[in-house]
Amino acid sequence: MNVLFASAEAVPFAKTGGLGDVCGSLPRELVARGVRTSLVIPAFRQALNCGQPIEPTGIEFEVPIAGQQVHGRILKSVLPDSDVPVYLVDQPSYYDRPELYREAGNDYNDNCERFVFFNRAVLEVIDQILPDTQIVHAHDWTAGLVPVYLKTITGHNVAFGDIASLFTIHNLAYQGSFWHWDMELTGLDWKYFNWQQMEFYGKLNFMKSALVFADAVSTVSPTYAKEIQHSEHGCGLEGVLQDRSQDLFGVLNGCDYGEWNPEADAFLPQQFNAENFVAGKAECKRALQQELGLPQKAETPLVVIVGRLADQKGFDLIAPLIPQFASRGAVQFAILGTGEPHYHALLSDLASKYPDQVAVRLEFSNALAHRFEAAGDLFLMPSRYEPCGLNQMYSLRYGTVPIVRATGGLADTITDGTDHALSNGTANGFSFVEYTSDALASTIERALSLYRSPDAWRRLVRTGMNQDWSWRTSAQQYVHVYEETLARLGSMV
Ligand code: ADP
Repeated sequence: MNVLFASAEAVPFAKTGGLGDVCGSLPRELVARGVRTSLVIPAFRQALNCGQPIEPTGIEFEVPIAGQQVHGRILKSVLPDSDVPVYLVDQPSYYDRPELYREAGNDYNDNCERFVFFNRAVLEVIDQILPDTQIVHAHDWTAGLVPVYLKTITGHNVAFGDIASLFTIHNLAYQGSFWHWDMELTGLDWKYFNWQQMEFYGKLNFMKSALVFADAVSTVSPTYAKEIQHSEHGCGLEGVLQDRSQDLFGVLNGCDYGEWNPEADAFLPQQFNAENFVAGKAECKRALQQELGLPQKAETPLVVIVGRLADQKGFDLIAPLIPQFASRGAVQFAILGTGEPHYHALLSDLASKYPDQVAVRLEFSNALAHRFEAAGDLFLMPSRYEPCGLNQMYSLRYGTVPIVRATGGLADTITDGTDHALSNGTANGFSFVEYTSDALASTIERALSLYRSPDAWRRLVRTGMNQDWSWRTSAQQYVHVYEETLARLGSMV
């Protein structure tokens, strides 16, 4: 089977969130299972500077965009420690920018054009380099027009209509929605701009287009696959997803334990495993407290948060609780994230009000993310919705007990520490259902009360550390989904 990933992100080339982790690790796992896999990504500045060797292929192309021919070229690299080819679509006016999608809280205003170009370039890669492609695995709205082009345009060397597409939703809330005149940029006939295909409430919508045109659709956890078919989490597209329910699969993301392994993590002051974590984590905690300027108190529980500072992640629940817990001196908070400017202001304020209890780092730092995961006693992730979530899985492996809201992938990975689950050894964290600060506060209290019983706490930590959330099962499930995708080719649109 020959599969081409089309994604805006793939570690180590470009990453803003879980999409980058998945597209940087799943291809290697597929190759190990006999699937020939390649990737195509934009040549973002971040990608060109990531340190991987990148070379020209000599392949150049032009894409007609709104009456102009826009020139591009294809560069080539590989995923580290593998021979998985990575093709990079180079057009500096689109991609040589400080960020991938947005700066200072505002999307780049030519995002539609930038990603139309990328999507058209994916087809060029197939036509000129990978004519044997059988399936394009397109990820999120930024690759959402690839399934449309496969069904509507022709290639020089390849019959695109013979190639199947699987579209994976990593986050339904980010849809790529643009004013209707941007339809001109796509080069597609206006006949597709209708409520059953590419239009959504008067706008051009990349996500909806993908959901309609792809042969099969998947998302990143079984629970999220169910949730998005209902209005609470469907972001208005629940009807489209219900129509595709027979072709919709939920496959949990896996962890890349090559990258996230506390036993061999060069970012940590001391490595540890499920046997010796008590001493190892204590040293990681002390070192992080020191690094962040928090008092080095071994006995004070350290609550860590790593993630995008977005409404999705439940910061509206967390914000009122920080003063409540901090003023009691009950816990320390260490928060690493970037995102919405109002959360930057709010968290900075809290850090200056409670310097002994709250430390905030408003930056994107992979090294710090590793150190936070290792140093924490508790990891907070009370998301409003969570398609899969990777941080809770990293936390489990690093012995940091997750406190999560039971939604999407969090519900699929975290077993609440009820008396019953604690006594039979299945608990690996704490979770709550109702989206309120009170529910979160009482869940934190439950966790803190167990923390005061070291033996029970260590048992909980050890359970999480010994679990296997690797790609082993999930990569195999993708092979099955690819077979289902091929079986559906031609039955759509
Ligand atoms: P999402 O994709 O919604 O952002 P996930 O939990 O699936 O959430 O994945 C987030 C990924 O991004 C994790 O690998 C996490 O460590 C990383 N991450 C998020 N914010 C930061 C940050 N400020 N610094 C370093 N890594 C971060």
